[in-house]
Amino acid sequence: MGKWIRCDSLTDVARRWRRAACLWALAVLSAGTLQAQGLSLGNGVLLTEKEQAYLAANNPVTFCVDPDWWPFEVIDPNGRHVGIGADLLALTAERVGLQLRLHITRTWEESLAASKSGQCTLMSFLNRTPEREEWLIFTEPLLIDPNVVIAREDTPLVSDLGALRGKSVALPAGTAVQERLQRDYPHLTLVQTSNETEAMRLVNERKADLTIRSLIVASHTIKTEGWFNLRVAGQVPEYDNLLRIGVAQSEVTLRNLLNKGVATLTAQDRARAVERQVEIKAVTAVVTDYASVLWLAALMVVAGLTSMWWMRKLQLLNAQLQRLSVTDQLTRLTNRHGLDQALPGELERVRRYQRPMSVILLDIDHFKCINDEMGHLMGDKVLAEFARLLQAGARQVDTVCRWGGEEFLIVCHETPPDQARELAERLLTAVRRHAFPCGRRVTASAGVAWAFDTDNVLSLEARADAALYEAKTTGRDRVCMAREPQRV
Ligand code: GH3
Ligand code: MG
Ligand code: MG
Repeated sequence: MGKWIRCDSLTDVARRWRRAACLWALAVLSAGTLQAQGLSLGNGVLLTEKEQAYLAANNPVTFCVDPDWWPFEVIDPNGRHVGIGADLLALTAERVGLQLRLHITRTWEESLAASKSGQCTLMSFLNRTPEREEWLIFTEPLLIDPNVVIAREDTPLVSDLGALRGKSVALPAGTAVQERLQRDYPHLTLVQTSNETEAMRLVNERKADLTIRSLIVASHTIKTEGWFNLRVAGQVPEYDNLLRIGVAQSEVTLRNLLNKGVATLTAQDRARAVERQVEIKAVTAVVTDYASVLWLAALMVVAGLTSMWWMRKLQLLNAQLQRLSVTDQLTRLTNRHGLDQALPGELERVRRYQRPMSVILLDIDHFKCINDEMGHLMGDKVLAEFARLLQAGARQVDTVCRWGGEEFLIVCHETPPDQARELAERLLTAVRRHAFPCGRRVTASAGVAWAFDTDNVLSLEARADAALYEAKTTGRDRVCMAREPQRV
């Protein structure tokens, strides 16, 4: 026993010595590596010799900003760069030991021109766009902020900018959103403004239909201007603002240096930069007379109520967006996405309670001819009318969905196959007899399938699709029943 204990403690001592030796060797090695590679700045940033040489030769570096983009950045009356972007840029520069000198301009266009002509080496806080890439290279994002559609309260929700016809969009000139919108949605009429606030004022005064803005800027402007008849009417996910530092194309070392600074920014640094603007107001508002204190209290109550109101609006917006995501815009029926969400639950009920359930898959016959001969708009009208007929002819309990193009699927709850077949026949007769706006006879084919315990969404839909195919290949304008699933 004693022998074992002595042996153990010996191993322990040996292990401790070995660990100490290893740590020492590691420390010596890494110090050597650091010396060979460059300089460590204490905050974890390691600079190469090239980067150190750059700093020695070029500090300070001149930068241009948007002088009127509160709360992201402005040039204040004392000629200082302030705002969220200003804080993040200053933090990034400080962490890599870079000094900056502001090149003062009066407008964003003036800043762009100064940057193009080489009067400033950096652009502080901007989106990367193909046009800007002609003369700038970019760092990783300093901040990511979503873009939203702002419209008047009475405007319907905007789920797709491509579907808007004859609408006007107010946007400040020279912005990334303006550049992308012109390229992606040329059918929208652009109303150019000189700044953000003017763009929102035009929408408020009905001189433009909508504007597209960063969520942070929009909520700030709506609150400060009191334009509460404006609202967030949709999101433009592909237009998220990835706000970066732009660097003159020739200055690759500077860009790499800045990227090292950006990499040190934490979520907390970013949150603090956003919150700081609010804090500044609170600090300057600390005064001794009671009237001002009361004013401050009233302001805080108003700000609190406004944020509650704003959060409620965003909740409603989310609910509306969720509804939109499962609704087909043309026919107002549930779309394929909504069907995929609902069908697994239906199949589970079939399995658990042994209840019958059938589906009818319908497809308009020779629909392509209507499009080809009378145009897509007429095709759309026929689709909408066809959907209305299905909705009117189906029973209250059935769920009618647009499955895709000119194909529709009806989920018949608690329905055995023979009843589903009767319903399908009735619907095809109603279609055959209906006077469609295209002025010609329209027919459809249908496949009926019913659910088995072993079914999943795909297998059930595949049997309905095979039955529909049979109806098509045996003459159209008819109903065919699916086969039972193959036993494995
Ligand atoms: P079949 O009898 O074999 O079903 O022939 P079909 O012409 O109906 O079928 P096909 O699949 O060849 O063509 C369907 C067409 O439906 C092609 C597509 O352009 C059109 N389509 C799909 N979605 C829409 C839509 O939303 N609006 C309009 N107008 N046409 C659509
Ligand atoms: Mg068809
Ligand atoms: Mg089809």
